[in-house]
Amino acid sequence: MKKGLGHKPCNKHSITAGRNKTTSPMGIVCATLLLMIAGSISGYAQDKPTHSNPWAPTELGMLPPVASLAKGVWLKGELHVHSSHSKESSNNSVGKIIAFSKSVGIDFVCITDHDNHVDGDVAHNTWTDPEFKSDSVLLLYGGEWTTTRGHGNAFSAVPYDHQRLYDVRDQRDVVIGAVKRQLGIHLSANHPSGKDHFGYSYDMVNSIEVWNSAIWPKNANAIMIWDDMLSSGRKLTGRGGSDAHHGTPDSPDKATKNTYQAKANYIGTPTTWVFATERTSQAVIDALTNGRVCISSNPYAPRVEFYADINQDGKMDMMMGDNVKATGKPVKFRVQLTGNTSVTGSYTINVIKNGDKFNTYQVSGKTPMIEFTDTPATIDRTYYRVEVEGPQTAYPQVPQSMALSGNMVGLSNPIFFNFDPNF
Ligand SMILES: [Zn+2]
Ligand SMILES: [Zn+2]
Repeated sequence: MKKGLGHKPCNKHSITAGRNKTTSPMGIVCATLLLMIAGSISGYAQDKPTHSNPWAPTELGMLPPVASLAKGVWLKGELHVHSSHSKESSNNSVGKIIAFSKSVGIDFVCITDHDNHVDGDVAHNTWTDPEFKSDSVLLLYGGEWTTTRGHGNAFSAVPYDHQRLYDVRDQRDVVIGAVKRQLGIHLSANHPSGKDHFGYSYDMVNSIEVWNSAIWPKNANAIMIWDDMLSSGRKLTGRGGSDAHHGTPDSPDKATKNTYQAKANYIGTPTTWVFATERTSQAVIDALTNGRVCISSNPYAPRVEFYADINQDGKMDMMMGDNVKATGKPVKFRVQLTGNTSVTGSYTINVIKNGDKFNTYQVSGKTPMIEFTDTPATIDRTYYRVEVEGPQTAYPQVPQSMALSGNMVGLSNPIFFNFDPNF
């Protein structure tokens, strides 16, 4: 066997090459080859590119405070609803919105009236409404930024100068982005594929309304835009909002042509869940920014929880919204439905990886749960998110919403690997 190895004679000669006075022709060839290889190695060292990309992703750093998996609190809310301060709304006073929210167990509400209906002065309309107070529901400060380039919601735990956001609406994105940062608000793109879709840069926003109103099927393109933005490296939270404008009249004579909507699309269709550090408005905003968020078709529908065990110790140590550096080792993921699940029906869990379907699972039982394992690439970004289809949980206060939502029960935010937190 050894005889047949072509390199054997060459090795022998190369060892002796240079020391023998009578070098064989094969020795010369070998020596030349060695010189060429040595030359190319030193040449490579000399020409090694010294370029370093100043925009390369930085090491993963700290995000706003996140809840530990053991100590957080789940809170459910409505992030897009119009009161009577929006001119096209009917029978939907601030007091009515808060009372209804309380009655269905909603923890937080952001009343997002159209700022153009009050010339940007949300602060002296919605927020100073005598009914804008609650001893049980967390009231976020916000408004729907209603511009010729589309709609976005502003969210804040404390009052802010909304007038400045309104005034800057026709400026270029770079100017608006600077004002948004100064105001310290969370800005969110509304109904991104519908009428009046958000037409500004997604660099300015912290979240995107991927589920607008009870009518789930019209959100397909919003989900596509979200996947596009995630794929481009934006760690963008997906959230819901009913965009309800019309409440139930106090007496039949107050009904309008839009009154029917109150039984089809109202507060909580869909419901946005956040996993917050504590039960405060600021913790809600932080959880929203961090993406520790899932969306359910209504306040009584089960909640989609999505976890991962990154160090194979059998304990889940990260959840949706969290972002870590991939280690190259397998990660175990867990999807769990919590709350009023149908014990007779079965749910379909669709896992999406980087915008493509990764796998589909069927689950049933009181607390349906699945686990799967995958190894995220050590280079490149990877994200996983979950959509759940199945039977709707009854929402007697908004009874027609169930049919409008079809099979869509809930969806999670992604678990991220190698995303640049500074992007
Ligand atoms: Zn809108
Ligand atoms: Zn709206």
